Amino acid sequence: MPELPEVETVRRTLNTLVAGRTIARVQVTLPRIIQRPDDSRHFEAMLVGHTIERVERRGKFLRILLDGLTLVSHLRMEGRYGVYEAGEAVEPHTHVVFAFTDGTELRYKDVRQFGTMHLFLPGEELTAPPLNKLGIEPLSEAFTAEALRALLGRRSSRLKPLLLNQAYVTGLGNIYVDEALFLAGLHPERTADSLRKAEWERLHEAIVATLARAVEAGGSSIKSYVNGQGEMGMFQHSLAVYGRQQQACPSCGESIVKTVVVGRGTHLCLRCQPLKRSRKPSRTASAGGRRSAKKTGSAGE
Ligand SMILES: [Zn+2]
Repeated sequence: MPELPEVETVRRTLNTLVAGRTIARVQVTLPRIIQRPDDSRHFEAMLVGHTIERVERRGKFLRILLDGLTLVSHLRMEGRYGVYEAGEAVEPHTHVVFAFTDGTELRYKDVRQFGTMHLFLPGEELTAPPLNKLGIEPLSEAFTAEALRALLGRRSSRLKPLLLNQAYVTGLGNIYVDEALFLAGLHPERTADSLRKAEWERLHEAIVATLARAVEAGGSSIKSYVNGQGEMGMFQHSLAVYGRQQQACPSCGESIVKTVVVGRGTHLCLRCQPLKRSRKPSRTASAGGRRSAKKTGSAGE
């Protein structure tokens, strides 16, 4: 499942490849990908003659801005875009083809068929499903440690499901939640209301750093990636804990553990991310001091 960094990489790539191109024809061969309007024939007809101006992103959704229309696209599990010459053979699982007036085509391929497309009048997309319920963008200026704490700090739920919930912070999925919690030294099952101010600051910093690093890695790999088949999509960034169960923690050397939290595979280092009991932050300088000393000790080993 692509998360914010992968979608951001697709966005940038699409922006360089299709901005300025005008749609001559659209062909939908799997109508249920098209969620809005109801009739995929209507979708095909509406787009003809429109020019793609630029591609933006909201959470894990692409916003393809045309002159007079906005196409919202979610890749879900396996959705991929590729740019081809019109004569090139159409690969299996290609469900939507946008043919441009210059003889090239943007093709949408989706083996799992879970992807979605919604078409709106400009601006309308932000006040209607699926974008209207999305939370704060973690790479925006509005996302601060204080904003994160204000959003989640009073909740008694565990950190992992809260961070996966797109209504609070949008764009994080299973991979980058595990990575950010590791970087912050926080157990995924800590309850949000047990975190102290310094821990919110660490978590905020870890989320931004994890995503920014992955976006940068994706950005630097765009060129070689697109050269392959003109296809853009997923690639694995270097990860510290996700998918690395039973391997050594890059920070302390302890074995990384895989467990299940709210039904999701969850990777962590029990030494770097100890599970502490929920406690009200009523007192105390000494507890805080002990905690940070312990943290420093384990991280430094
Ligand atoms: Zn560790």
